[in-house]
Amino acid sequence: MTAVLVINSGSSSFKYQLIEMDAETTLARGLVESIGADESHIVHDVIDDDGAAESFEQTTQIPDHTAGFTAMLDAFADHGPSLAQHPPVAIGHRVVHGGARFFEPTVITNLVKINIQDLSELAPLHNPANVEGITAAQQTFGDVPHVAVFDTAFHQTLPPEAFTYALDADTAKRHRVRKYGFHGTSHKFVSEEAARFLDRDNAALNQIVLHLGNGASMTAVRGGESIDTSMGLTPLEGLVMGTRTGDIDPAVVFHLHRRADMGVAELDELFNTKSGIYGLSGLQDMRDLTEQANAGNEAARTALDVYVHRLKQYLGGYVFQLGRVDTIAFTAGIGENSAQVRAETLAGLENFGVKMDAARNERRSRGIRVISADDSTVTVLVVPTNEELEIARQTLSAV
Ligand code: AMP
Repeated sequence: MTAVLVINSGSSSFKYQLIEMDAETTLARGLVESIGADESHIVHDVIDDDGAAESFEQTTQIPDHTAGFTAMLDAFADHGPSLAQHPPVAIGHRVVHGGARFFEPTVITNLVKINIQDLSELAPLHNPANVEGITAAQQTFGDVPHVAVFDTAFHQTLPPEAFTYALDADTAKRHRVRKYGFHGTSHKFVSEEAARFLDRDNAALNQIVLHLGNGASMTAVRGGESIDTSMGLTPLEGLVMGTRTGDIDPAVVFHLHRRADMGVAELDELFNTKSGIYGLSGLQDMRDLTEQANAGNEAARTALDVYVHRLKQYLGGYVFQLGRVDTIAFTAGIGENSAQVRAETLAGLENFGVKMDAARNERRSRGIRVISADDSTVTVLVVPTNEELEIARQTLSAV
């Protein structure tokens, strides 16, 4: 049996998942939280053959990531599965920003680590935390190869006309300002799963993937390659999200600075954490938003309308960029679960070959499924994403 351990590290937390790669099943997963706080927390789920999880929780003090990895090892030793029986052949690390430098999963050397650290200026909240997780994991699993899998890598196939902003070229070059795109691991996984499910050659398919979670992005995929995506230099651009504005006139920044005396830090926080559907309605969870919108709450209805309007706008743009669309795939928390968002987004597109089947759209299931009508030219799918599995696959391919 071949096992891969996947690590997704934040500044004060990390998630882990041990995946058995022959059957591609998760053996255990967990979360170490509030690292460095007075009370830290670890949740360790052991997954049985039927996919059912038994959960073990502990509150303790974990001063840093290295201590977090020790706590993780203790959880494996106390509750299983045994890491001696399932020794990871490689550790896969999710890394948010790979800049223009990393376009594939990369075995981590000291130079690679320096490069990831160097890209922190593009992702100041994420890359330093990713490096911290890598260092701690290296201290814990010294002999095992570590692989970085970048959120941006799948979008390195974007053509220049898609990734270039119409900004002064010297300034853009000096400061590495361009569209990079994110959620690449998910967009790659979902587009490949859709092709596999339909038993079609991915190289011959034109697809649009809607990753709608708390963060959200849309990607146009031609023949398995990303040709355009909605997130940009940072994950702020594009779609309306839980708390992020998505696209907004950049002059709003100048305006609020001049009129409201807002500084960069305040604007950053406003745009990233106080806007989106939350900023419009006070509700961040799509379940609450649709419920309130349906109950006649005007602010919630407006927020949902703005959310869907932006989705349609990008969808239309990508239809024209691709020229022909074979599949539209919905994924992530909202994409997989909100029949209402899917229905409203694709309503009225019959003239473009998109015809939903209402009953199929409403039906819930854990697996991948078609929700368009049999006579729809475009096949619409719900595809559950699995970023950890994709990271594990890419990790294995790199070693
Ligand atoms: P993610 O970031 O992929 O975990 O997605 C989180 C988002 O998924 C949250 O905004 C949730 O409201 C949304 N979500 C989860 N379950 C449902 C559901 N049953 N219906 C609508 N939205 C959901």
